[in-house]
Parts: sequence; C-alpha cells; structure tokens
Amino acid sequence: MERGARVELDAGRCVACLECLEVCPRSSGISRPVFRVSGEGRPEVAHPESCIFCLDCTVRCRAVAIRVNGRRLPPAPLGDRILLLKLSSMY
Ligand code: SF4
Ligand code: SF4
Repeated sequence: MERGARVELDAGRCVACLECLEVCPRSSGISRPVFRVSGEGRPEVAHPESCIFCLDCTVRCRAVAIRVNGRRLPPAPLGDRILLLKLSSMY
C-alpha cells in the first residue's frame, strides 16, 4: 500500500459531518494526521503525506467531496474495494 497521496477536499460540497476524520485510519492517534478539524468545525487536509491510500474517506463521504490521487468513489458501505475501484471510473 503506497504512503502519501494528493488528498483534495471540495469545501463547496462538504457538509461538515466529519465522518472522514472518524473513518480515516491516519487521522487519529498519530502526530501528523491527514485530516484535522478547523476552527470553524470543518475538515481540512493537514498532512496528506500520512495517507495510506485506503480510500475509506471517499467511500464514507456522503457529499462525494473527497478525491485521493484523483479518485472519488461513490458513497457505499466499506468492504468491496475492487468493485468500488471499478465504479470509481464513473465519478
Ligand atoms: S465526510 Fe465528506 S461531507 Fe463529511 S466532513 Fe468529510 S468531506 Fe465533508
Ligand atoms: S485514503 Fe485512507 S488514509 Fe488517506 S485520507 Fe482517506 S481514509 Fe485517510
């Protein structure tokens, strides 16, 4: 699994549910989290170099507001990554 990615967050789509922070395995319990909460209570990308490209944030985001290395997956239960990666070509 590669480490470090281009993580883009579309603030115009984001509804500030903060579920990306909950699901990201690299945004809690480490010193350089990918996501952090801004002073306005919104997510922001802090350390994309910590990303492990699991794509869980893109799958969880209900607003389809996150791209990781250009990939944005449809909201879905976490699980079948191969199917989701195939579906990603639609987004
Ligand atoms: S999961 Fe999506 S909508 Fe929710 S805070 Fe993160 S980017 Fe915004
Ligand atoms: S792809 Fe995985 S590690 Fe990277 S920001 Fe999203 S949830 Fe975190």
